[in-house]
Amino acid sequence: MTTLLGKTEEELVEFARTIGEAPFRGRQIYRAVYGRRALDIAQVTELSKDLRDKLNSIARVTETRIVDVFYSTDGTRRYLLKLGDGREVEAVFMPEERRDTICISCQVGCAVGCDFCMTARLGVKRGMTAGEIVSQVIIVLNEVYGAGNEPPHGTNLVFMGMGEAFLNYNEVMKSIRIMADENGLGISPKRVTVSTSGVIPRIYDFAEEPIRPRLAISLSATTEEQRTRLVPINSKYTLAELMKACRAYPLGERERLTFEYVMLDGVNDSDEDARRLVKLLNGIRAKVNLIPHNPAPELPYRSSPMERILSFQKILIDKDVPAFIRKPRGQDISAACGQLAARPQANG
Ligand code: SF4
Repeated sequence: MTTLLGKTEEELVEFARTIGEAPFRGRQIYRAVYGRRALDIAQVTELSKDLRDKLNSIARVTETRIVDVFYSTDGTRRYLLKLGDGREVEAVFMPEERRDTICISCQVGCAVGCDFCMTARLGVKRGMTAGEIVSQVIIVLNEVYGAGNEPPHGTNLVFMGMGEAFLNYNEVMKSIRIMADENGLGISPKRVTVSTSGVIPRIYDFAEEPIRPRLAISLSATTEEQRTRLVPINSKYTLAELMKACRAYPLGERERLTFEYVMLDGVNDSDEDARRLVKLLNGIRAKVNLIPHNPAPELPYRSSPMERILSFQKILIDKDVPAFIRKPRGQDISAACGQLAARPQANG
């Protein structure tokens, strides 16, 4: 069985050829599955009934299925999705006033092992294919707005669900190129943010990409020792080298490099940490997102109190570093940052 989602237009044209059909059939399939978000071959009505029957016997659009959807009181929706091999991942939809955001996964589990993150507890099972990555976006858009309907005010996409995007680099970049195409999903790379915990060689590769989304660095510490404890990949890719890569990163005219900083009570949230962070960011056009830690019974941390987060923020702002406090979303359904662990129930 061939899976259609994840193939580029050229690959679908080639696929049409290999099954003895004219190349334009491949383009029709492309526009149907990405442009109209048809998830079933029966919905590819551009094709004759005979051709749809033929396709049905040899191909499918995607194997990704919704297992469950959890609805938060704040409008956030968490999707538990099953992939073709039975593995489960999660995606999260967050409605916002100006533009909705979909947070997607790129790996089943994660190998990085951040000490404050539930996904880390799963270990890594495997990277997701470009088709599996794209399927999350199409499934969520169809569930929220109805198949093929345009989102009323566009979509932001963040690679901040399960997994480390730069440990699955090729499939993530392929999915981004597919999603960016105007004849397909048409999600501008400017509306896409890829987050990394600091896989330094891939930061240099990413900087060279012709189609390049925004980059966010999950920092969460201001000394080597603290970071190695919280984000263990730091023992391989050190904070000093990471900041060097960030300094070398070519930013667009109005672009800023985003730094994510999870606020952990008594661990990384002192005034001294804030001052060290200002120093680290010196000379980088940066913005900082301060993320109140989302607790889980299995995790040994508490969030910094809001008073502390505000003091931390003030030190950054006083030194002209834009700093924002991220509003926790979907905490009641375990959909918030660091809580994704492919749990079947709402508050696992
Ligand atoms: S925070 Fe991100 S990189 Fe770290 S373990 Fe969790 S999913 Fe992986």
